[in-house]
Amino acid sequence: MDFRAILARFGRKGTLEFWMALLAGAALLATIAVVFYSLNHLADEVDRTDRKLTRQTAEAAVKSFIRKLHDGHQDYARWDDAATSLFGVPNPDFVQSSYADSTSTGIIFDTAFLIDENGKDLFALRDGQSLAISSRDYFGPALALILKRSDGPPGLYASSSGFFKTPDGIAAAVAGPVVPFSYGIPLEPGQKRMLVIARHLTTATVRRLGEEFVITGFAFADAQTPAEQSVVLSDPSDQPIGRLVWSIRTHGSNALATIHPVVSTILALLSLIMMAVVFTAWSNLRATMRSQEEAEHAASHDFLTGLPNRASLLATPIGGEKALRMQHDVCVVFLDLDGFKDVNDTHGHFAGDRALLGCAAGFSHITAGKGVLARVGGDEFAFLSTGPEALQTGRKVAEQLIEFLREPLRTPKGELRLGTSVGIAAGCSMDTTIHELLRRSDIAMYEAKKLGGNRIANYDANIDARMQERAALTHHLREALGAGEVSVNYQLIVDAATHEAKGVEALARWTMFDGRVIRPDIFVALAEEGGLIDVLGNYVLRRACMDALAWPAFHLSVNVSPVQFRNPRFEEMVGQALAETGFPADRLELEITERHLMIEPDIALEVMRRLKERGISIALDDFGTGYSSIGYLRTFPFDRLKLDRSICADITINANVQQLVQGTIAIARSMGLRVTAEGIEDEFQAKFLRLAGCELLQGFYFNRPMPASEIRPKVLEEA
Ligand code: C2E
Ligand code: MG
Ligand code: MG
Repeated sequence: MDFRAILARFGRKGTLEFWMALLAGAALLATIAVVFYSLNHLADEVDRTDRKLTRQTAEAAVKSFIRKLHDGHQDYARWDDAATSLFGVPNPDFVQSSYADSTSTGIIFDTAFLIDENGKDLFALRDGQSLAISSRDYFGPALALILKRSDGPPGLYASSSGFFKTPDGIAAAVAGPVVPFSYGIPLEPGQKRMLVIARHLTTATVRRLGEEFVITGFAFADAQTPAEQSVVLSDPSDQPIGRLVWSIRTHGSNALATIHPVVSTILALLSLIMMAVVFTAWSNLRATMRSQEEAEHAASHDFLTGLPNRASLLATPIGGEKALRMQHDVCVVFLDLDGFKDVNDTHGHFAGDRALLGCAAGFSHITAGKGVLARVGGDEFAFLSTGPEALQTGRKVAEQLIEFLREPLRTPKGELRLGTSVGIAAGCSMDTTIHELLRRSDIAMYEAKKLGGNRIANYDANIDARMQERAALTHHLREALGAGEVSVNYQLIVDAATHEAKGVEALARWTMFDGRVIRPDIFVALAEEGGLIDVLGNYVLRRACMDALAWPAFHLSVNVSPVQFRNPRFEEMVGQALAETGFPADRLELEITERHLMIEPDIALEVMRRLKERGISIALDDFGTGYSSIGYLRTFPFDRLKLDRSICADITINANVQQLVQGTIAIARSMGLRVTAEGIEDEFQAKFLRLAGCELLQGFYFNRPMPASEIRPKVLEEA
């Protein structure tokens, strides 16, 4: 088994699981092995002990057999009647009744010999009959040995025994002198009577012995028969003449055989349970690891497109930091989709998501194998390339990305058109970081966007410096709004015919604590970008309303930023300002530029309607710049048109412009709009515009914007 291959299949995270399972499996096998070994060992031990005990029992049975024969011998040899009846010529009746009869029953002995002091047999009995064979021939030469061992001083009883091979089989025999039991019975001097009794180990005798001692299969076998368990029977000269054998008992093995299936079943069940436990633990572990992997993936990837996110881009192994340290070139291409917000707002978020998915798929295809692509923001993507060709790769990818978006994206909601603004920043030294490159490419991207989008901009340190300055200014503006550094000036708007002041335009002013004056077009843009426009706009509106309360004859014009206009609470905020200051709505005019209309025409129209319902008039400011279109005048319910000062300036020098202005004013008037001309700097302009049909004029020719305190004398003056 190739473990390395298995481990590779499990993967790095699976290694732990693999070892865990291996360990559990090994533990299970070890448990089974130990159980079976123990049981077998126990059974062997039981069998061994059993064999030992059976052998001891068999030996005890043999000893008992001999002892009983000894007891019998003592009863028949140490006997007063025998001492009197067997000496001299043995009394035949006594011999018959006491010995011959006993041999015929065979209970104590089945053979008896009486031998005198000369070794002559006085009687030889077998099964109640006289034997015509001498004791020496019957028992063999070994008989002499037990005769000798039991032959002691006259009158003293002793006995000796042994096994003998007789013509009738194997027999145990006991020999000993016949002596009186009681004292005082005299023995014939010079005479000796040796009684030899024997009992044959017949099949029945041995079987009974076996039954008595509970030895299964106890039987006689000859000396040559091999037997695992036996008691060898030897004659007094130690010659083996036979053996007793028995069936080997295997209680342990039998018990083992009985419990084997039970134990096997239990172990099988145990194995199943353990496998289930291990499997459950394994699954849980896998699930935990999977959710951990998922969490890690989620933390480093964008959930919508599945692309790496910003953090993951920065930590990517081929990532910039490492490459930078090794002094490789690193290039970051940053792109922001143009018009994505419109897709989201107009077609809904689902379409927006589909558009992002489409972009991600296309971008991934373009950048495949060239570097790392990540989604770093809502509609922002970044591509990172490293190596000596990093910048060239980055540029090529950037061009391909722009080219890709020239084709409309196909979504279930139809075709969507998007563009992209791309910023490129490259670095190759150790003094910059990937974070820094990302920031720089972001700045470059803003430049591309500012230039109209759908183009590439390279990072430029000057833009960066300007951006940083703007960031610092935004920071100051935030503080300035709180510290009252922002004020409102007013420029009078005069009647074109009489030059009589008819109203004022509120213009925000910011003089910094160090005396620096920041132009409104700059800080208004800062406020728009920095999320401060609502605060600024609200402040100017309230200030102007409060100031203008003192000039009841004047209309008040207040500029509104497109960003303010997009706020769904804008109309409510205007209403609140009017209510709280008590300024009449019909004296208020809001000036908006075409930018409002271009961005979200539907919303703009709706907001304008609601403002007009409140009695507020609306003027189209800076007409004649940018994308000026008479069409707007038809579509949107304007009350007034304000000709931009650049147009008015051109009147003096360009006859074509004069005609254009005359035509525009005529059309506007025909649509019921009144016209104000801004930026009047000389008498010619004032006259020309009056003659062309302008109702109101505004410009340095009449006055410059001034603080509220200076307006008052003018009002009185006009009065
Ligand atoms: P605008 O709304 O077109 O305001 C008129 C601008 O023309 C003012 O510049 C004014 O000072 C200038 N002006 C007036 N007469 C003449 C003239 O005869 N010659 C020249 N060269 N300029 C003249 P200002 O105050 O610098 O404001 C610039 C722009 O900043 C405004 O243009 C307006 O769009 C914006 N702005 C000013 N205050 C606010 C504000 O409170 N909110 C918003 N959203 N925008 C504001
Ligand atoms: Mg204005
Ligand atoms: Mg203007």
